[in-house]
Amino acid sequence: NKEELNKYRGKATKTADSIEIELFGNIGKPEDAKNVKDNDGEGIGLFRTEFLFMENNQIPSEEEQFEAYKKTAVMMDGKEVIIRTLDVGGDKNIPYLGMEKEDNPFLGFRAVRYCLDRKEMYKIQLRALIRASVFGKIKIMIPLVTCVNELREVKALVEDIKADLDRENIPYDKNISVGVMIETPAASEIADLLAKEADFFSIGTNDLTQYTMAVDRGNSKVAYLYSVYNPAVIRSIKRIISAAANENIIAGMCGEAAADPLLTPLLISFGLKEFSVNASSILRTRAQIAKWTKAEADKVADEVMKCATQEEVYEILKRYQR
Ligand code: PEP
Ligand code: MG
Repeated sequence: NKEELNKYRGKATKTADSIEIELFGNIGKPEDAKNVKDNDGEGIGLFRTEFLFMENNQIPSEEEQFEAYKKTAVMMDGKEVIIRTLDVGGDKNIPYLGMEKEDNPFLGFRAVRYCLDRKEMYKIQLRALIRASVFGKIKIMIPLVTCVNELREVKALVEDIKADLDRENIPYDKNISVGVMIETPAASEIADLLAKEADFFSIGTNDLTQYTMAVDRGNSKVAYLYSVYNPAVIRSIKRIISAAANENIIAGMCGEAAADPLLTPLLISFGLKEFSVNASSILRTRAQIAKWTKAEADKVADEVMKCATQEEVYEILKRYQR
């Protein structure tokens, strides 16, 4: 209950045996950052910038974007703010971009693919992000990555923009991080390679489930397959987190699964270092994390990893639920 949860307000997020975890919030616009702060979030793990584009009837200018990112960074007062670059397409349409209708929009011209094709537009967003980085701790996150080239291309753009800003004497955070969302089976397969070149990972379980299970996340006919409890998805998550640990980068999770209390022991056991959830789930997630020691979580994970079906996984998780 609420009173119980309030005991976790102002507390650090850690497991019962004091392993420190970062607990962030997901937002769609700068104003939402207040909600994350009010709910005691320790940073922003996902700022979905589509909304900035959707509430306009044209591509928001560099200044408009800069103000929005700056406002968020200032509001979070030096705490981490992970801003995802435009994730257009799939289920997210922005009418004025004039995107062509596709037979398979989820497999099509979207997110980083679209942005790398429209570099002039993308550079406006990246420049606004990099400029805003002097006002707090902004990190850049790339959606729907499937190959190392995409990461390299974005990093090259970031370096170009930094050089421009240097010439113009405009300040920015020289160490601004560039990370990737791991939300496709391709990215999961090459997580070891991506981890060598990315500054951090954030697992997007909403899309990772959709693409791993080959299930349109909006199609009710196949919704029975759309579950993060599928062994295929669970194995993928485990591998991604291990790949990050091997290269000493942080693996976070910003998909809905991060807020699922049934999954908390599993994610602790796998070594997830950052959970990013909706503002309303922050305190509850902190309370859940505090219930488990690593050894106890490992026991649950051992059993889950032996399961053959999503039903078996669910049953184990339910049995151990705290
Ligand atoms: C995800 O895919 O898990 C995610 C966090 O991004 P979105 O839901 O915006 O696609
Ligand atoms: Mg996604």
